Parts: sequence; C-alpha cells; structure tokens
Amino acid sequence: MTIVEGFFYKKDSSKQYSVSIQLVSSYLRVTGKDVGNFEYLVDDLTIEPRVGKTSQRSITFPNGGLIEFHGDALINSILDVSTRSNKHNLLYQLETKWRYVTIAFAVMVGCIWAFFSIGIPLIAKTVAYNLPVEVDMNLGQHTLYLLDKTMLKPSNLDNATQLRLRTHFQKIAKQSEDKRNFSLKFRDADFANAFALPNGVVVMTDDLVELAKNDNELVSILAHEVGHIVYRHGLRMVLQDAAVGLLVTIYLGDISAGTILSSSLPTFYLQAKYSRAFETEADKYSLTYLQKNNISPMVFVTIMQRLAAQDKLDEHKHGEDKQGKIPELMSSHPLTKNRIKMFIDASKQSNK
Ligand SMILES: [Zn+2]
Repeated sequence: MTIVEGFFYKKDSSKQYSVSIQLVSSYLRVTGKDVGNFEYLVDDLTIEPRVGKTSQRSITFPNGGLIEFHGDALINSILDVSTRSNKHNLLYQLETKWRYVTIAFAVMVGCIWAFFSIGIPLIAKTVAYNLPVEVDMNLGQHTLYLLDKTMLKPSNLDNATQLRLRTHFQKIAKQSEDKRNFSLKFRDADFANAFALPNGVVVMTDDLVELAKNDNELVSILAHEVGHIVYRHGLRMVLQDAAVGLLVTIYLGDISAGTILSSSLPTFYLQAKYSRAFETEADKYSLTYLQKNNISPMVFVTIMQRLAAQDKLDEHKHGEDKQGKIPELMSSHPLTKNRIKMFIDASKQSNK
C-alpha cells in the first residue's frame, strides 16, 4: 500500500507535524517522528470536503486531530474499504465528478428542447394529416366568418380580374394534387395581404392585387399559400400551440394570472420558430411551382420587396393596431434576406 506524506495537527492546534499516512487493511495508520504511531478505523474518519480547486485534502479523526495531504488516491482507497453507507461515497463522487453532473443536466435540457421543438411539431403534423376533413372545414369556415365580421369587407375588384386570378389559382390547386376544395376569395381590407385557411380557401386583399405589377407576382404568392394548405400548416400551428399551452398548464398546476403569462411566452417563441420553418416550406413550394411553369422566380422577390416597403409605411401610419389580428404575409414573418435569396439564386441558375 502506498504511503502518502502529509501533516498532522492536534485538536485546536496549528502546530504542524510531518507524518506518513498509510492505509493498512481497514485502518488508517499515521506515523511521525514527533507523534509516534497511531491508527483509526476508516469508518470513524471524516473526509472533509474539498476546498476550492486545490489538490489538498484533509481528514479529521474522532478525537479532533486532523491530517492534511495532497491528491485523491488515498481518499479513493479509504472509500473503497469503508463499510459505511454509499451516501458519503456518492456525495464525494458528485463533488469530484461535477463534469458528469453538468453533462447530465445538459442532456436533460437537450431532451426537453428536442421534445418541444421536434416532438410536439411531429405529433402535431401526424395529427393534422390524419384529422377528418370536417375539422379543416369547420376551422376554415369559422375563421373566415370571424374575419368577415371584424376586419374584412367585400372586394371592389372587377369581375374580369377576379376571374383571371381564379384561373391562375385553380391551375396551382390542380397541380398540388391535394383533394381539398380549393377556392380563392377576394376581400377588401386596409392592407395588402394574402393568407390560407385550412379548408383550402385562400383570401387575397384588393390592396395586394393593386400592389402587383403583373399576374405572375400574385401567382408566386398564391402558390406560397397553396403550399401552406398542402402541408397543413394552419392546423399544425393551432395544434402545436394548444399542446404547448396544455403542457405548460399541467406543469405549473393551475391557470392563474401568472401561469397564463408564463405559458404564453414559450408558445410565442415556439410559434415564431415553427412559423419560419413553415414559411420556408411554403416558399420552396412556390419556387418549385414557378420553375415547373417557366415563371421567373424573380416575381416573388419583386412583390415581396414591394410588400415589405409598403408594410413599413403602414406601420408608421397605423402604429401597432393591425399587428396580431390576422395571419399576415409580412408582419408575422418579416422579409428576411434568406427568404428572397433562395429565389434570386434560383433565378440566376435558370438564366445560365
Ligand atoms: Zn406564408
């Protein structure tokens, strides 16, 4: 058994004695020129917690004496032969192996994160794709009914324009091969916007039609909206929201003012994140449609840029009052450089 050199202190004394410390079966033997020989049963020893990050360790004896030495080897050997409960051992392990604790904690946080950002969306997706069509119908009809009552007015577009755009829309719907009852509805509102409802209805405002320089610009947006419908984004969003809200409520116990506030926060963040993924998916759907039908991807870039400029203007005019009322093309998902970049790149590719 190895011998460790250290110092011995008598109880309540700071006088240092050089000693050799050695583990002999289940006894710790201390030998020193000035203190002689003495032994203690390891189960009677108190291993003191480590101080800071030094390698210095100390052990207290039943009579109050103390030894100091460097390194963990002796302590590990003592713990090996100690018959005391594992509790002390475990605490010691935790203390020396804090890295494992940190890793375990990180893994736990990672699992929770994965459940919220991957698990819930996956469940919502599966449910959304398997719900009966009636759910989509009800949700879509109800939403449009509410919007018509509150913020949408009948369209002022002439019949010829409406018919022309509906023809474009039906072509996109047909190519989607989705069995939903697609229809394009025009409404007047005081902003340029288009949005998709789960039942296959796409609503486009007069302002957006007027903002476009040609039909293909609107086609790119209609294809984007059809993408949202094909991928069931609306329903998935509602389901994800509900699931997160429900879980947070369960976790926090009950619904009080405080829990409503805290439960709306994760929902908000998750929603913002999912939305971006959904937007990208719908953007890709639109891009594929444009390419398949020999329409320059740049039409999406020009209309989105015009919309972004208009949106900034509107924000100054109306302040915040129109935010959050309606699933908007722009305000829910700002025009990021990445979003148009995909279309610009595709356009460059096709021009080669
Ligand atoms: Zn969108």
